[in-house]
Amino acid sequence: MSVKDQLNTILKSIPRQVQLVAVSKTKPVKDIQEAYDAGQRVFGENKIQEMTTKWEVLPKDIQWHMIGHVQRNKVKYMAPYVSLIHGVDSLKLLKEINKQAAKNNRVIPCLLQVHIAREETKFGFDSEELNSLLNSSELASLNNVKIRGLMGMASFTSETEVIENEFKFLKYLFEQHKDSCENFDILSMGMSNDYELAIEKGSNMIRVGSLIFGARFYKK
Ligand SMILES: *Cc1c(COP(=O)(O)O)cnc(C)c1O
Repeated sequence: MSVKDQLNTILKSIPRQVQLVAVSKTKPVKDIQEAYDAGQRVFGENKIQEMTTKWEVLPKDIQWHMIGHVQRNKVKYMAPYVSLIHGVDSLKLLKEINKQAAKNNRVIPCLLQVHIAREETKFGFDSEELNSLLNSSELASLNNVKIRGLMGMASFTSETEVIENEFKFLKYLFEQHKDSCENFDILSMGMSNDYELAIEKGSNMIRVGSLIFGARFYKK
């Protein structure tokens, strides 16, 4: 199936209030253009340099989401244009985003990444760290970032029950903080293999790559 057909199949199967982020990492500009021509405007990348190169050549009404782990020294490259940063996993990073956003006269929307998976290699806050960050006066003083919600990645496993419980936990944390934080309305969870389950558990933003663009091939 073409990129366009895949996009439409997914869009037809999800509720309207769920936003689809088309994850285009490693994929060429022509694939993104094809999705754009089919109406898709929100794209996700996990490397700042790659995203910036694509931003430079593609239509300017694309909303670029940074979904990967962010290195502080590279925030400046995306600060002028990034529309949502999903992977915020430290106050230090948030401060750098705030600084670069201010330089660009912007307020950058961010999601806090929560560590819900079993793998230690995955990034993110635990529930206590999340609590203290969201209640800290330091966060309140960062005027050029806006925390819009939470993001999480489930374990890499075929055990549906494990994934389901991880999604449930993230949704629980989201609900816990939703009312006390302003503009806290995005729950980013679900990828190609688990987005249906994620939506069932309360996700309103899914990040889908291979199901739209095909498998990724990494150069050695
Ligand atoms: C690559 C990636 C995705 C998309 O993965 P697919 O399995 O191709 O849908 C989603 N979220 C994050 C954080 C990713 O790095």
